[in-house]
Amino acid sequence: MKLIKVEAEGFKSFADKISLSFDGGVVGIVGPNGSGKSNINDAIRWVLGEQSSKALRGDTMDDVIFSGSKTEKPMDKSIVTLTFDNSDGEVSIPHKIFTISRVLERGKGNNTYFINDQVVRFKDIRDIAYESGISKSSLAIISQGTVSDIAQATPEQRRGIIEDAAGTSKYKSKKVEALRKLEKTTETLDKVNTVVEELEKQLKPLEKQSEKAQIYIAKSNELKEVEVALLVNDLLHYKERVEILKNEIDGFQETKEDLEQKIQIDEQKLNDNLEYKKNLDEEVIELSKELDQINEKLQALEIQFKNEEMRREMIISGQISTASHERINALKKELESLSSQINHLESWKDKTSEELGIKRREIEKIEMQVAELRMRENSSKTKLMKAKSKLDVLNDYKDSKSNLFKGTKTVLDNGTLFKNKMFGTVADLISIPEKYILAMDSILQNAVQHIVVEDSETAVKIIEFLKDNNGGRATFIPLSSISSKEIKSEYLVKIRTHSGFIGIASDLVSIDPKFDVLVNFLLGNVIVVEDIKIANEISHLVDKKYLVVSLDGDLIRPGGIMTGGTKQNSNILGIENQIEQIKNIIPQLEEIVLLASQDISKLESLKGERQSYIDQLTIEFVKNNEKLISIKEKFSSLKIDYESHSQEKFKESNIQSIDVELNNYRDKKSSLSATIKSKKDKLEQLTNVINQLQKSKKELEKSLRLIIESFSDKATEKTKADFYINDANKRLSEHYHLTFDSARENFKLTKSIEESRQIVSTLKTEISELGNVNLDAIQMYQEIKERHNDIYKDKVELEEAKRIINEAIAEMDKIIISRINNTMDIVNEEFNLVFKEMFGGGEARIFLLDSNDPLESGIDIKAQPPGKSIQNLKLFSGGEKSLIAISLLFAIIKAKPLPLCILDEVEAALDEANVVRFAEFLQKLKQDTQFIVITHRHGTMSRVDALFGATMQKRGVTSFFSVELAKAKELINSYNE
Ligand code: ATP
Repeated sequence: MKLIKVEAEGFKSFADKISLSFDGGVVGIVGPNGSGKSNINDAIRWVLGEQSSKALRGDTMDDVIFSGSKTEKPMDKSIVTLTFDNSDGEVSIPHKIFTISRVLERGKGNNTYFINDQVVRFKDIRDIAYESGISKSSLAIISQGTVSDIAQATPEQRRGIIEDAAGTSKYKSKKVEALRKLEKTTETLDKVNTVVEELEKQLKPLEKQSEKAQIYIAKSNELKEVEVALLVNDLLHYKERVEILKNEIDGFQETKEDLEQKIQIDEQKLNDNLEYKKNLDEEVIELSKELDQINEKLQALEIQFKNEEMRREMIISGQISTASHERINALKKELESLSSQINHLESWKDKTSEELGIKRREIEKIEMQVAELRMRENSSKTKLMKAKSKLDVLNDYKDSKSNLFKGTKTVLDNGTLFKNKMFGTVADLISIPEKYILAMDSILQNAVQHIVVEDSETAVKIIEFLKDNNGGRATFIPLSSISSKEIKSEYLVKIRTHSGFIGIASDLVSIDPKFDVLVNFLLGNVIVVEDIKIANEISHLVDKKYLVVSLDGDLIRPGGIMTGGTKQNSNILGIENQIEQIKNIIPQLEEIVLLASQDISKLESLKGERQSYIDQLTIEFVKNNEKLISIKEKFSSLKIDYESHSQEKFKESNIQSIDVELNNYRDKKSSLSATIKSKKDKLEQLTNVINQLQKSKKELEKSLRLIIESFSDKATEKTKADFYINDANKRLSEHYHLTFDSARENFKLTKSIEESRQIVSTLKTEISELGNVNLDAIQMYQEIKERHNDIYKDKVELEEAKRIINEAIAEMDKIIISRINNTMDIVNEEFNLVFKEMFGGGEARIFLLDSNDPLESGIDIKAQPPGKSIQNLKLFSGGEKSLIAISLLFAIIKAKPLPLCILDEVEAALDEANVVRFAEFLQKLKQDTQFIVITHRHGTMSRVDALFGATMQKRGVTSFFSVELAKAKELINSYNE
């Protein structure tokens, strides 16, 4: 590669554009001091990427821009372009001729580099400099006064020079790079090793846990297959059993209730009858006492009467012989007594007939009352029966949830799975007074079946559960997602006083306060009114903005769409109300039945008593009637007797007081006897009834006992079965997340029940023996294992990389050592020769300070001019130092030819003979190296191939011109003069 042109403008003293063309060989540049010769050197260094302003003899980089002179203004920009001939392809640029330029603008600090006028990076320029060997650290450019530095340099600096010549810098920088890589690789490898160790520490326990978890999963899956099928089998069995038991228990229950009711009624009757009997006993005692007194009185009167009557009869019959008038008198008295009896019996008959009529009517009345009570009792019994069976139906309906959608039912059946986060259906939570049921049903429609949950996450879980189990669809209201709705106050003011307005739907129902938001969300903006007519009026008042509903369930929706007609309750809302109502009605009806039965029994007793009284009185009546007939007969015959003997008509007069009294007492006795008899009859009857009741009650109680015993066995069995069903369902839903239906569909027993139970028990024991199981361990183990594998691969790769880098470094070291040794050998050979030639004898060589460390060792110079034995280079004279340095320089150039070498007054300190030798050396070396020599010396300039003269014709601005040697001499001479 050859430098064929230097162009500059604005660089240092080159205010005018300069252009120097070269054609290889040795080019000399001559000119007076300060004319700008060395600026050419600076310009070349600058373009090649010099970054140090000091090295360019300035303070800042802007100092390289022409700073003006007395006649010239400062310039703002400096540009230098070098043109190279790259025909030998030394530089890997695909051009035979190429240019590199550097431009700097004052105050901007940014240097711009160009290759062939294309902007390039600084690095691209550096690459060319390195590639070609013209780099700032090489010997290619030796500035004024620095040549002896080569001799005086430190061993390390000198080594740098030799390394440049040996071309090891490429390897060195590669080695540095490799070492950096090695360091990084080692660092990374260390980190990777730490991670590998850490992972390996974690892997061991995790592997065990993972194995345990896998065993757990396998056993759990096996258990699931058998246990679920077994649960389904058992559930089917127990459900069937429960159904049978339920029917039996229902039957028992009915019988039990029936028996209890009967016992209660018997007891009540028994108590009533005992009470009745007690009262009756007392009455009979009282009445008997009274009767005894009457009898006592009557007995005395009867004796007196009998005696008198006997005497009269004996006088009348003639058994006692008396005077005729005495007999007539006795007849009269007897007639008077008989007449009195007849009258009395007649009147008694009338009175008794009347009384019998009264008593019979009373009986009729009692019978009517009893009939009425029986009707009431029967109708209440029928109602009771109906109520009980309706209650059964409603309870069944409620328990079976058969009125619900499949999804809603599935969720409620498996409610325990979602525990505190699922609260039931809207219908379960809101309690609605009976009169608003139709309206609310109409508003809520299907929403009554919506399931209220805590949050949307719960809803998502339940929906997934429904999907997994094909459990149907359900709608959810997450409490955390809803907000209250309301009716604007301006509308409320308008409608509140409107007649027929009932209220805001949310105010008409009740709910646990924690669900207030639910009620306000569903019903907070719904208006309830009396009827559809009022609904229409109110809907207009609220500008058809809100839903208005009538008590009948007719609706006007926001916007005005109306729905109405007859409406049936969907039977979901209000089922609780209905159950509640029936539960309240049943005891009322039972009370009515009981009271009616009590009243009937009392009335029946009363009727019996009355009847017995009537019977007694009737007997008395017959008796007295017969008595009356016989008295009347006797009276008629005695009357004839009397009238025939007294010759006068019998006239009733002078009724004997005894007769009156006797009749009175007889009346009293007869009436009292009848009463007592009737009461005694009743008592007898009552005793029978009481005995009967006691017997029947005992029998009923015995039956009840037996029923209860049997009932309790069945109830215990049912409780156990219910408990098992509940437990099994819970296990299915909570543990296996299965509904009964999906479990039944997908799990079948494959072995006998006994065998299956054995398997389940064994597996459960085995699983529990596993102890704590970390299911996450499987995933964690997999992840960490993968990570370990990956990072282990990295470790292997890094180790391999490290090995390769080390190998490369060793290889590079080998090359460096071999190149250094090689170069030093060649340089030493030349150095000795050149030195000898320059010094006219003696010897010189360079050597490694530490031969054991050829990679790093510094290099020293040993120079022995003829006849001298100087060890320290510093002790040589300036000229000697220059000579040694130039000798070494030439030796190196010879060993490793440079494409271009700029020598700025390097021979200044030499004597003329040595200048000549120097110049001749240049000629020898020019085959391989292009020289630009800045010089003041004749010996040099007379031995160059071309010369340029530098002048500062205008003060402060350099211009160059090509000069002939003779002219140059003149020029030099003129300066020297
Ligand atoms: P010598 O023979 O004494 O070594 P030289 O010919 O090598 O001299 P240079 O060192 O190349 O001279 O040039 C120095 C000249 O360049 C000085 O006159 C200096 O004023 C001028 N110069 C340096 N930098 C600038 C600049 N930025 N603007 C204007 N002139 C500059």
